[in-house]
Amino acid sequence: MGPDKELCAAALGGTEPSLLDQCKQRAAEIIQQEAERLSALSRDIWSQPELAYQEHRAHDTLTRFFSSCPSWEVQPHYKLDTAFRAEWGPVPAAAPALHVGFLCEYDALPGLGHACGHNLIAEVGAAAALGLKGALESVQPPRAVKITVLGTPAEEDGGGKIDLIEAGAFDDMHVVFMAHPAQEDAAYLPDVAEHDVTVKYYGKACHAAAYPWEGINALDAAILAYNNLSVLRQQMKPAWRVHGVIKNGGVKPNIIPSYSELEFYLRAPSRKDLATLIEKAHACFNAAAAATGCRVELSTSGHDYYNVLPNKTLAKAYLENGKKLGMQFTTDDLVLNGLSGSTDFGNVTFVVPGIHPYFYIGSEALNHTEEYTEASGSKEAQFYALRTAKALTMTALDVIFKPDLLENVREDFKTVKLMEESSFSGTDKARESSSGAGCASR
Ligand SMILES: [Zn+2]
Ligand SMILES: [Zn+2]
Repeated sequence: MGPDKELCAAALGGTEPSLLDQCKQRAAEIIQQEAERLSALSRDIWSQPELAYQEHRAHDTLTRFFSSCPSWEVQPHYKLDTAFRAEWGPVPAAAPALHVGFLCEYDALPGLGHACGHNLIAEVGAAAALGLKGALESVQPPRAVKITVLGTPAEEDGGGKIDLIEAGAFDDMHVVFMAHPAQEDAAYLPDVAEHDVTVKYYGKACHAAAYPWEGINALDAAILAYNNLSVLRQQMKPAWRVHGVIKNGGVKPNIIPSYSELEFYLRAPSRKDLATLIEKAHACFNAAAAATGCRVELSTSGHDYYNVLPNKTLAKAYLENGKKLGMQFTTDDLVLNGLSGSTDFGNVTFVVPGIHPYFYIGSEALNHTEEYTEASGSKEAQFYALRTAKALTMTALDVIFKPDLLENVREDFKTVKLMEESSFSGTDKARESSSGAGCASR
């Protein structure tokens, strides 16, 4: 018996299925019927990997896909060159609609291609939206619903969702869904807040053997900065992360390096902790400049990524639906003690209730490796991607059909956001803004 049949049997329980169960069943069938087209969509994006903000081909593929589906109104280049929006509904048109959003990511990594499986994120978002539309068309839904698919570029570098938040793309949405490939199924993993910093040291070139005392060594500053951060690690909280590279360390051994450049990512589980970490890291960078006599420039580009706020009502509904589809979820213990990366979906969870579960793709490979690129484009991944899309759609149907559940989703959103923001005091906010707008990715 396949998972869909099991779902049907479980829903039936020997009696007539409810309208909600019928809808869930219908959604799963529609997603399965579209399997071939969805797989081709994913494969197309996978085979031509594009970097952040340059996803022109993926943008065209996805907008063509939705333009070819009946009743979707597609807006290409929506607010960003490689973003798009596809809308369906509201049905019935006159009533105020519950607005459900599905997000598609589709950027890749330099040198590795789709090593984070964002081609599968795009596929899951598209599949879930098609499933929900089809299910709602098959019944008289209890309330008017509008569905939006938002194509969100540049998750790996820059933060396209944050650009879209600032442009108002999420203003009228009530709940948003997406899912990210991983090594396991998890309704929630604690993605952390992130701030990127570029450090530039300016010294003075000179002959390194004849009169080195006339030079100011920018490479020495870079090395000291790197080592200062290594020393800081002992005093960092266990969940904080600092990691970086030296991008420029001089040109020739017999010239005292007059310029060096480092790039670091700073991460912590909350914006409050991140602000503390930024202050400590800046002290390390500035100390290295003072010790060597270099001038230092600290800069950021793009945006800070916020930690992903949990929504326990949505997570519980997703778990229940996923289990019916045969998902084996990672234990609570692993979730609580695990540390994930960072995502611009974190910022989304501060403006609208949402869920960002992780899903197994049939491989033990780790994200951001060549093996994961292979796995993301594999045939095996398709079963898991479609199953994830079904679980997302079924969770969206729970929100649509159960007014109490929607109320709890909203309550969770308000409570967690309030807790997070009250711990992030005015002083922290000032410290965050004085450190400049950050830039980040996963
Ligand atoms: Zn990634
Ligand atoms: Zn990713």
